Amino acid sequence: MTETKQYLANLEKELKLKYPEQTEFLQAVEEFLGTVEPFLVKNPEFVEKNILEMLLIPERIIEFRIPWMNDQGQWKINRGYRVQYNSALGPYKGGMRFHPTVNQSIMKFLAFEQIFKNSLTSLPIGGGKGGSDFDPKGKSDGEIMRFCQSLMQELQKYIGPNEDVPAGDIGVGGREIGYLFGEYKRLNGYHAGVLTGKPLSYWGSLARTEATGYGLVYFVSHLLKDQNDSFEGKKVLVSGSGNVAIYAIEKAQELGATVYGCCDSSGSIIDPEGIDLALLKEIKEVKRERINTYLESHPNAEFYPNQSVWELDFKYDIALPCATQNEIPVELAKKLVTNGVQIVAEGANMPTTLEALEVLKANNIVYCPGKAANAGGVAVSALEMAQNAQRLPWTFEKVDQELNLIMKNIYETCRDTSNEYVGDFDLVAGANIAGFERVAKAMLSQGLV
Ligand code: GLU
Repeated sequence: MTETKQYLANLEKELKLKYPEQTEFLQAVEEFLGTVEPFLVKNPEFVEKNILEMLLIPERIIEFRIPWMNDQGQWKINRGYRVQYNSALGPYKGGMRFHPTVNQSIMKFLAFEQIFKNSLTSLPIGGGKGGSDFDPKGKSDGEIMRFCQSLMQELQKYIGPNEDVPAGDIGVGGREIGYLFGEYKRLNGYHAGVLTGKPLSYWGSLARTEATGYGLVYFVSHLLKDQNDSFEGKKVLVSGSGNVAIYAIEKAQELGATVYGCCDSSGSIIDPEGIDLALLKEIKEVKRERINTYLESHPNAEFYPNQSVWELDFKYDIALPCATQNEIPVELAKKLVTNGVQIVAEGANMPTTLEALEVLKANNIVYCPGKAANAGGVAVSALEMAQNAQRLPWTFEKVDQELNLIMKNIYETCRDTSNEYVGDFDLVAGANIAGFERVAKAMLSQGLV
């Protein structure tokens, strides 16, 4: 084992001893540390100055209590988090997730990934993430509002347009951002740039809603272009049916692909004629219903209860996991291989386990890691911050064009960085090294802080 490899192995070992229960965080760190050796060998100053050790420890973790009252007048308590991981490149930036699985490990893995994702956008944003183990499923609008207000009572002490700028993630969309924003304003005055993903009627950015899904498909389209190919005629499956999935489906369809299926936690649908997106939007964005209601209007579609799209036998070319972390374990990666998939591009954060990734690699499936492929959402959040600072809204076309350019740049950076350091087409290594390089240089230049 080389000296650098030993150094990386020691860092990982130390973290494992300290946080044995933080499996998601350890997974994200292991994936990252497994790729940066070639960069460190060429740039030993980052090892000498212990930049990696500094990077692995969040600058700050805030954990707090969120008391709220349900519609029956009962007192309820949830846990809230904000991980302010790294501010070398700018104010902490990253979403808020409301989901019962939220814990410190999940918050730390998401914030850790966010550092490199944000770095890859080339925009001035540091890495952070937050959320709560609150389950929005089945909650009334009043309950959601009171919960958001109570959360912000505490969170407002730690955020601001130049300090930390939260946005949405799973379970947090325009409605929740609106309630969070209202409470922040009540306590601190009108600081538009304190949150992104705001509604369009006040300081939100056009194309922010679409950005993660569109960006994902732009990323893959640049990859396909490199292979003299395109989305035209491609067969696609998408997991999830939330914001990321819906707009990935929209853009893939626009570019000539047929998206046959998607899913939610109740099961999957496959529509042999391709997903009817207007209907899916109606079910998910307006009525907030389960996905099987799709069959009421499209009886030719199939519903597979309690199965994700990755479990189905179906021949297709491109898999876009847009649901959640570790949705593709090793058995399902094998299924993707037998189903003939050629490209896996992650709309979700870390949807593929490390073992599953090995299976994809061994079968020469092109794999686009989330921290590169789904960076479009946070990139447009940074463009929203720019518009807010200018006090001027940009047109949809301008934001969309910028987004496409940013995704092209991220793809090319990952490709070229992996060529330079690994001598191979490895987008995981490319994303990690390129993302790390910018942050590490900034940390070095800012001194021991
Ligand atoms: N939650 C999104 C992500 O995972 C977006 C974060 C943001 O816009 O700040 O990147």
